[in-house]
Amino acid sequence: MQATMNKRILVTGGAGFVGSNICARLLEQGHHVVCMDNFSTGAEQNVAALLDNARFSLLRQDITQAIAVDVDQIYNLACPASPIHYQADPIGTLKTNVVGALNILELSRQRNIPVLQASTSEVYGDPHVHPQSESYWGNVNPIGPRACYDEGKRSAETLFFDYRRQFGLPVKVARIFNTYGPRMHPSDGRVVANFVVQALSGRDLTIYGDGTQTRSFCYVDDLVAGLIAMMNSGPEVTGPLNLGNPEEFTIRELADIVLELTNSSSRIVHQPLPTDDPRQRLPDIAKARRLLGWAPTIRLREGLVRTIAYFETVVAKQSLVTAYVSDPSVPR
Ligand code: NAD
Ligand code: UDP
Repeated sequence: MQATMNKRILVTGGAGFVGSNICARLLEQGHHVVCMDNFSTGAEQNVAALLDNARFSLLRQDITQAIAVDVDQIYNLACPASPIHYQADPIGTLKTNVVGALNILELSRQRNIPVLQASTSEVYGDPHVHPQSESYWGNVNPIGPRACYDEGKRSAETLFFDYRRQFGLPVKVARIFNTYGPRMHPSDGRVVANFVVQALSGRDLTIYGDGTQTRSFCYVDDLVAGLIAMMNSGPEVTGPLNLGNPEEFTIRELADIVLELTNSSSRIVHQPLPTDDPRQRLPDIAKARRLLGWAPTIRLREGLVRTIAYFETVVAKQSLVTAYVSDPSVPR
């Protein structure tokens, strides 16, 4: 890449799972990256390998505070994404989604720079339409325990499109479906991290409910490619665009695949289904295919093999299994 094409790019939530993978990819492409994070669910360890890079800087800041940085593009990823973490401080989650989004949009407005919002399939709630396309408006409980996240992300989408209508801001809204891969935290609480860590440590795999609910799992490299393609698309591509893997699995099927790939003798146990847990989720990605020429390339088994290899190293290095799997809701 030519030096003239290199940009200064802000990644909020850059020390988290997806954010750290984006930071690494943008540095590989020759850009300067400013990673901003309050380290609530992220970890410096996720970006430790990037700290020696002169084009990388790390800022400890909460996006609910006013932001002043000199950049050319913004990826807004700051927000806890796992239900156990975003429900631990629901008011904080809502503030991050609304006040944080306002701060990010103001920065974008001052500099007239593109800003990409990491929205979510959760805006569809427990959907009545399957698969979910962007034209579906969703089925969200506004007062349930997931609302701080679901309604927070919906409000953020509203703000992004109002800034576009009112100020002509070059906004991009990506609706991300369940994504997994290296640098998820062992105590993340989401299903792939839980099952893999449980299987590797010989503990029971905890299926919530009967395991017939479905999700579709996108490997993080595929998602990062989609987010970067969207950011660099023309200004007419505002989204919302679904980014996810269009292969659907039941949670029971996922548990069986993880047990097989880890060669684990762990058992499966059932625990109560959380309130408002969506029954089915599958992205219609026709729009992203058409507008970005993007589609995932890594199938679940291949992505899981890479993810298992990552967790084997982490678990061996940090001996975190005992502490976190015994109670994955223990705050770090
Ligand atoms: P994550 O929890 O690993 O990362 C979130 C990062 O944001 C963490 O580093 C955390 O410390 C930081 N953060 C949280 N609140 C902040 C604040 N107020 N100020 C500054 N930093 C803050 O989660 P993730 O999976 O990497 O998700 C990243 C983004 O993508 C989130 O916005 C999430 O809603 C969205 N998303 C992710 C998925 C997925 O499956 N991974 C699916 C849909 C949407
Ligand atoms: N789940 C599960 N066991 C776990 C963690 C999650 O059965 O240890 C289920 C959860 O109830 C949901 C699905 O797996 O039906 C995906 O949950 P996750 O928290 O990963 O993401 P969500 O899509 O619900 O935000």
